[in-house]
Amino acid sequence: PPPRKDLDTPFATQCLDPTLSAASHPRESAALVMLARNSELVSALETIRNIEEKFNQWFQYPIIFLNNEPFSSEFKSSLSAAVSGPTFFETIPAADWGFPSHISPSAARKSIKQQGERKDKVWNGGKESYHHMCRFYSGPFYHQEVLKKYKWYWRLEPGVKFTCAVTYDPFVQMASHNKSYGYTIALWEEPNTCPNLFRTVDTFRTEQHIPRSPQWNALIDPELSVPAPVRWVKGLLGKGHHAENGDRWNLCHYWSNFEIADLDFFRGKPYQDLFTHLDKQGGFYFERWGDAPVHSLAVHLLLEKEKLHHFSDMGYHHEPFFQCPGNAPGGQLPENKALGRMTGRESRESEGAIGCRCECIDQRRRNNRGIC
Ligand code: GDP
Ligand code: MN
Repeated sequence: PPPRKDLDTPFATQCLDPTLSAASHPRESAALVMLARNSELVSALETIRNIEEKFNQWFQYPIIFLNNEPFSSEFKSSLSAAVSGPTFFETIPAADWGFPSHISPSAARKSIKQQGERKDKVWNGGKESYHHMCRFYSGPFYHQEVLKKYKWYWRLEPGVKFTCAVTYDPFVQMASHNKSYGYTIALWEEPNTCPNLFRTVDTFRTEQHIPRSPQWNALIDPELSVPAPVRWVKGLLGKGHHAENGDRWNLCHYWSNFEIADLDFFRGKPYQDLFTHLDKQGGFYFERWGDAPVHSLAVHLLLEKEKLHHFSDMGYHHEPFFQCPGNAPGGQLPENKALGRMTGRESRESEGAIGCRCECIDQRRRNNRGIC
């Protein structure tokens, strides 16, 4: 079948010689970044060995490890031994990890406790550290001293796995295609983590006189953008993720455990102003706003859609979802085949779309959480 026009073209549709890719272009100003705890040593090491095998052995980008506590010497020696490029182990300044001064810790802790205990338990809502992590990745992350000299980052997490070789330099391609934000998996947010997030972002949008662009509208559920009187009759008024004007976010967001993105965009005033606006509202603590929906709403609000890139050619797994480019001729992902749940039965070795040996998944079931 002819490639779908609305799909983002992959940067490569065949297996390239990675040594040649590396030799043919100087490195971008970029780093791989992993936030991790000392207790995650084993899964961090697995992921680092994996990314070295599938990518970094040829490109030797630096890998930066961040932690809100000092890394143990065991963590540092094990991880640095696994990395082909330079490694950095940084402790996040206390001011960047924790309640900001305008939030009362006791009130926030009370809310966090309730989020964990209420009947419709908020996913990770009861863990204070998780709230700090989401706030960190939404704002202070971009101002870490160790990232200052770089333009690009590739986010990694302990436990994630790349299932196909990446035989080109994604930073070089992002730069030459004028991209700012790259993702692999998109799915629906858990509604009870962020009832007021969309409203708060939309208020910022109207205050800043940012018009509703096509990519902003792509996040809005047309069925639910109903006038206030109708919402009142239907009992929808004030519920869920409506903006003041009745627009309703469809909950679609990019899963931020994978990101390849432009630090300058996130360090820039528009994004930082948005973060400040969100932070003031308190939803990182009194709700459990994730950094993934924050980044996603921000890129749809502040960037043209041409600046976004779907890495459909990357085999990627973060429990419980994966993206699998296997079995797709010419690297073009067939509709609804990009996402699925990993099960032992479906897992097998297959020849990947980009022609590289690619341990991937034969995705048979249609997954309605698909790319949104
Ligand atoms: P999930 O993917 O949403 O289930 O969340 P994870 O547990 O994977 O956390 C997301 C990222 O933040 C991972 O890189 C974790 O290692 C990291 N992380 C989460 N909480 C903490 C924490 O309290 N301290 C540190 N240093 N890292 C954390
Ligand atoms: Mn994770």
